[in-house]
Amino acid sequence: MSTPTVEQLREQVRAPVLTAGDPGYEEARTVHNGMFDKHPRMIVQAEQVADVIAAVNFARDAGLDLSIKGGGHSAPGFGTNEDGLVIDLSLLRHVHVDPKAQTALAGGGATWGDFNYATHAYGLATTGGVVSTTGIAGLTLGGGIGYLCRGYGMSIDNLRSAEVVTADGKVVTASKDSHPDLYWALRGGGGNFGVVTNFEFQLHPIKDVYVGLFFYELDAARDLFRFYREFIKDAPRAYGCFPAWQIAPPLEFIPANRHGDTFCAAIVHWSGPLDEGEAAMKPFRDLAPVVAEMVGPMPYPALNGAFDPIFPKGIRSYWKGNFVTELTDAAIDAHLNYGPKVPEVSATMHLYPINGACHDVGADDTAFAYRNANFAEVIVAAWQDPAKDAERIQWVRDYYHATAPHSEPGGYINFMADDDQGRIQDNYRGNYQRLVDVKRTYDPDNLFHTNQNIKP
Ligand SMILES: Cc1cc2nc3c(=O)[nH]c(=O)nc-3n(C[C@H](O)[C@H](O)[C@H](O)COP(=O)(O)OP(=O)(O)OC[C@H]3O[C@@H](n4cnc5c(N)ncnc54)[C@H](O)[C@@H]3O)c2cc1C
Repeated sequence: MSTPTVEQLREQVRAPVLTAGDPGYEEARTVHNGMFDKHPRMIVQAEQVADVIAAVNFARDAGLDLSIKGGGHSAPGFGTNEDGLVIDLSLLRHVHVDPKAQTALAGGGATWGDFNYATHAYGLATTGGVVSTTGIAGLTLGGGIGYLCRGYGMSIDNLRSAEVVTADGKVVTASKDSHPDLYWALRGGGGNFGVVTNFEFQLHPIKDVYVGLFFYELDAARDLFRFYREFIKDAPRAYGCFPAWQIAPPLEFIPANRHGDTFCAAIVHWSGPLDEGEAAMKPFRDLAPVVAEMVGPMPYPALNGAFDPIFPKGIRSYWKGNFVTELTDAAIDAHLNYGPKVPEVSATMHLYPINGACHDVGADDTAFAYRNANFAEVIVAAWQDPAKDAERIQWVRDYYHATAPHSEPGGYINFMADDDQGRIQDNYRGNYQRLVDVKRTYDPDNLFHTNQNIKP
């Protein structure tokens, strides 16, 4: 095909095909991270698998740059591109729950909000992230770290099967019995291997959880980090918790005269019996004087959406991530040097625990290689004013460089920026070559390259 046209694509796809000037194009071309203001030549808003097949074939044969947009949350804006073709999956967001089997089948464009809404109606849930507008697709394909992962494993550990459109336009089901090599690679390997049109997840009986959000003065931060590293080692798996830095937003439970002040915080949840929830919060009340707290039971979807307002679509952002095996005193010193300088309400460092059920799976059982790591660190700044780009990025980089010597060489691909492609081998360490082999089998020409890329 010489110069591919939108008309040619429209002849092959029943779904809406948008180009500049069409209603809906502006919304479809943008992604969550406002730093990526790109203009694809064509956007296919896939409504069914056939649309995805046709779009993949068209992009491949026309030699167009191809991006897949699930929830559009990737920090490096992988869900859009300049002058290429985007397969936007935002219309493919069905979630069908089988309450008897405790499984759910969800479309590749569903968000965790869509997913939780559907499964909560049956008193069921599975591991997602900490923001409900994030896509199930990108989050799961990278691993899936969130509130429930100590108890139920990462999202990939709950992925039973995936329906995938591969680079040759074929549809395959990847599971332990079908295309096991692809199933292995999808669980941590990101969007490198094809377009996942359906995800089948294992669910668990989780309806309401007991939650505690505790704010402490900055001079309690050392106690908080030291307490956390010991406590989380053997804490019951019903616990999820992580330390954070937080500039106090104007919320009712925080004294009005402290709004805008910087605190260290613990975000705690208990997914065990609710009547044990209050006792489960006690260690966090006791570790240091609490300035403000919000504690009580809430539906799991409400917990999953609690941070949503801080990260609206279009906010500019920059991310860095590391895996951490031991949270040493020297590492804590580095946190204490940079965390209190957190520059925005929507900037923070979260140190998620990835022990518990995440360690039940071996380092080479899935593509996600860091099964011995105990923590996933993410440093993120999000801001509205483009004039602050350099300053905000610098804070993230400085913090990252201070903690990197106390961390593993690799990090979680979903917490990486666009300048992190050089870390790809470290992110997968012993699993990297096997990923390259699977890439060669399913995408030898690297059609799916708008991602943390595994080169064939
Ligand atoms: C506010 C916010 C909070 C977050 N919190 C968490 C968290 O708690 N835990 C966590 O683990 N991560 C978290 N993340 C990171 C998140 O996991 C990644 O940004 C992830 O890539 C987002 O997936 P997405 O589908 O929304 O993004 P997209 O930008 O749409 O996609 C991300 C990548 O996956 C590919 N892709 C998307 N859909 C498909 C598909 N159907 N088939 C194949 N490839 C596809 C894309 O091409 C791209 O390379 C958060 C991100 C944000 C912005």
